[in-house]
Amino acid sequence: MRLSNYFLPILKENPSEAKIKSHQLMLRSGMIRQSSSGIYSWLPLGFKVLKNIEKIVREEQNKAGAIELLMPTIQSADIWKESGRYDDYGKEMLRIKDRQDRDLLYGPTNEELITQIFKDNVRSYKNLPLILYHIQWKFRDEIRPRFGVMRCREFLMKDTYSFDISKQDAVNSYKKMFLSYLKTFEKLELKAIPMQASTGPIGGDLSHEFIILTDTGESEVFLDKNLLKIDIKNIGYSEKNTSEIIEKYSKFYSATDEKYNKTEFDNLVKKENQLHTKGIEVGHIFYFGDKYSKSLKALINSKEGKNINPQMGSYGIGISRLPAAIIEAKYNNQFMKWPKSITPFQVAIINLGKNGDDADKKSNEIYQILKINHFDPLLDDTSESPSSKFKNFDLIGIPYQIIIGTKMNKDEYEFKELGKDKVILSKDEIVNRLKEIYNSDK
Ligand code: ATP
Ligand code: MG
Repeated sequence: MRLSNYFLPILKENPSEAKIKSHQLMLRSGMIRQSSSGIYSWLPLGFKVLKNIEKIVREEQNKAGAIELLMPTIQSADIWKESGRYDDYGKEMLRIKDRQDRDLLYGPTNEELITQIFKDNVRSYKNLPLILYHIQWKFRDEIRPRFGVMRCREFLMKDTYSFDISKQDAVNSYKKMFLSYLKTFEKLELKAIPMQASTGPIGGDLSHEFIILTDTGESEVFLDKNLLKIDIKNIGYSEKNTSEIIEKYSKFYSATDEKYNKTEFDNLVKKENQLHTKGIEVGHIFYFGDKYSKSLKALINSKEGKNINPQMGSYGIGISRLPAAIIEAKYNNQFMKWPKSITPFQVAIINLGKNGDDADKKSNEIYQILKINHFDPLLDDTSESPSSKFKNFDLIGIPYQIIIGTKMNKDEYEFKELGKDKVILSKDEIVNRLKEIYNSDK
């Protein structure tokens, strides 16, 4: 993409309404704009990041054996009345009436609807286990929407639902999701710590929140530093592996302020291993048995020929919260550096020349070569001053830059990874370097 043809409305100043760095940066770098309280439009740069996150979440769900479908945003109130949550949900639920005076709502989550789909289409234990998921917008009329897309009213969530014949099988599905969450956040270059959580209005007796550690964040967290060292690379989704990984995590203390107990923390964790910081909830998983299958009368034929309610779990990831959470974790007040797995563009070409001069020609040449090699570069071909170009790229956060000045020799380019020293490379060397960087995980 050439910047002169792109839509990237950068703001020079910090907007006064933005209190935390991710909100400021997302507004300033032209990723999002608020359309009304807690409701945002995703501009091209932000939308690219959002889509890249979605892709990683989807890939890891598929690897764990979950199957994607798509449920609507608008749901009938009837199933919520049946489950009993229509009244429980209170003012967070956006209720709508259609022209026939029927009660509808904008889904805040989908346990009811997925149970209905299951009930209408699955009869036999032979079809289980079944893990279904979708990636869809949700609406919760939060009392205090704040911090931009971190806590908003309309947000994009990946929500997965598991159906099993027995509690033991359901716990296996839970463990698979537990591992898939760890892998998903690792691919996003985040360290997410699973923490025992209370199940709240969803109900049930097994639940973990996945929290990424930042010095901002709404939750206060207490944990054993050993949790940061657990390695999940190359672990497949077998029953043995998933059980082992959950056991490893269970060995060490971690709690949010809701569950934290000082005496317990001091007794279980050596002083030098204690970590007390803040965090952001990016995912939450639950096992809740037959809470919804019972109330919505979903039945399945067991091997023994009995009709039983399937055992269920649900698993959410806040996809549209993640760009903000990643900024909180990665932005160091001088510049943003996106993880390479989700960066909006793979490399920036910063042309410091003028229309028609050598630097301009070289910029166009390297841009073409990168396109031919299937990279996704952003070429700054605008006439802004060099200092303002560099300032903008500190905001945009593309992790690699090719800087093209006017005094360089023919096949010499400055190549820079953000936060590191620049090196001089030839065109071929740049292509090879980028191939190493971007193809190394494949
Ligand atoms: P929170 O405790 O942050 O209010 P929650 O426990 O109500 O979240 P869940 O129902 O567990 O949320 O939803 C799954 C995920 O969706 C959360 O882990 C979070 O990442 C994301 N999420 C929830 N509410 C919001 C919101 N208002 N804005 C953005 N993302 C959200
Ligand atoms: Mg939660």
